[in-house]
Amino acid sequence: MSSISTVAKRKALLKKLLVTIQKNEKAISEALYNDFKKPAFEAYLTETQYVISDLKHTISNINRWAKPKRVWSSVLNLPSSEFIYSEPYGRVLIISPWNYPFQLAMCPLIAAIAAGNTVVLKPSELTFNTSQIVTKIVEEVFDVKEAVVVHGGAEFTQSLLEKRWDYIFFTGSVPVGKIVAQAAAKNLTPVTLELGGKNPCIIDEGADLEIAVKRIVWGKFINAGQTCIAPDYILVQAKEKYNFVELLKQEITRAYGENPEESPDFARIINTKNWQRLQAMIEPEKVIFGGISNEESRYISPTLLDEPDLHSEVMKDEIFGPILPILSYHDEKDVERIISKYEKPLSLYVFTENKDFAEKMITHYSFGGGCVNDCVIHFSNKRMPFGGVGHSGLGAYHGKFGFDSFSHKKAIVKKPTWGDVPVRYAPYKNKLKYIKKLLSWL
Ligand code: NAD
Repeated sequence: MSSISTVAKRKALLKKLLVTIQKNEKAISEALYNDFKKPAFEAYLTETQYVISDLKHTISNINRWAKPKRVWSSVLNLPSSEFIYSEPYGRVLIISPWNYPFQLAMCPLIAAIAAGNTVVLKPSELTFNTSQIVTKIVEEVFDVKEAVVVHGGAEFTQSLLEKRWDYIFFTGSVPVGKIVAQAAAKNLTPVTLELGGKNPCIIDEGADLEIAVKRIVWGKFINAGQTCIAPDYILVQAKEKYNFVELLKQEITRAYGENPEESPDFARIINTKNWQRLQAMIEPEKVIFGGISNEESRYISPTLLDEPDLHSEVMKDEIFGPILPILSYHDEKDVERIISKYEKPLSLYVFTENKDFAEKMITHYSFGGGCVNDCVIHFSNKRMPFGGVGHSGLGAYHGKFGFDSFSHKKAIVKKPTWGDVPVRYAPYKNKLKYIKKLLSWL
């Protein structure tokens, strides 16, 4: 089996990776800017710093995570000591997307190496500069037998998927997730699928609108809306709609200025194909703010759409850009009708001062993860799992959840040879009544 057997070796590799990333921080930030004008602040917060903190957390905890975990023995097995061993799967294929091209390539790599696997990493072909620096870092840190980066688009990725892997970790769109799952099924290869969805953001009557708009504008327009957990559409209580929209407009202008095209804090759309896809979602008669775009620079301004039809282009699939539809609701039936029209989303957000309403929303609907009175930030806590459910994904990672995703959990019972209890051995004769009595006490 292909693996990095000792924990000491894995830890040494992760430490080397940490130093190499720290040394290249500026170059990573520049690469992200050159790929799609990702602002340096966002590159630091959501890419380099996130990965550095993930690495430090993993390095501090790897000994504990990798150690066989002793559990209470089953009375039936006594005398015994019983353990869960974490075993690396072996050769892992990691396929990553372009929107957080450094973080979404590096974090699965860190978890896979920590768990002792060897890795073939296929970053996105759409972020040339970042993929180059990812390659340089991996080449500097790892032997080719431990981890390598390979490059290519859809066809090349499909040829990789035809090979046999011990684990596949995919981050990307739902349609490609299905291709990955089908390919993995041929060899019964276990997979993690980190996908997307249409994430609702519910604004309850009486919510603190001033705080809500700040947090929503940040969460929606960071990375120009190209974030898998960004609010996809707003569901606002009809009585609050006017105030909410006015405050939203003010907040967008405060954050990005009168002309966001000139703002150093607003990224661009990744490529012309995606720019055109997003452009087709903007129905001019629905625009109540923004709607300005420039194909040459792949710019689309923060745009608010008022009450788009549920069958319109913008309400079909995940938007994945700086367009925010505003839908109003009168009662919870309206909310239910709209949310349940879609597959289970990757996240759900609810802004409310009513704890019961918040609890109802987060327990009634099934989704990957979310926040009450905020958005996106649940991603940042390495002590919580990150992943989708249903069409938004399968499995989870971050911190120990990542280590566990990349480990097979082996149950081991260790028995001494003294103290053999003969009750289970044939001939059973009249042992049945004793065993029934014994088990009825447990
Ligand atoms: P994508 O699915 O187009 O591409 C992802 C990866 O798959 C890339 O490496 C690409 O080369 C490869 N690929 C593309 N088409 C393929 C095909 N036909 N066959 C095999 N491989 C193929 O996704 P993207 O555009 O890079 O990223 C955006 C999507 O990713 C959005 O849907 C977003 O929600 C999702 N996403 C999810 C998460 C998460 O953590 N859940 C994070 C970021 C992005």
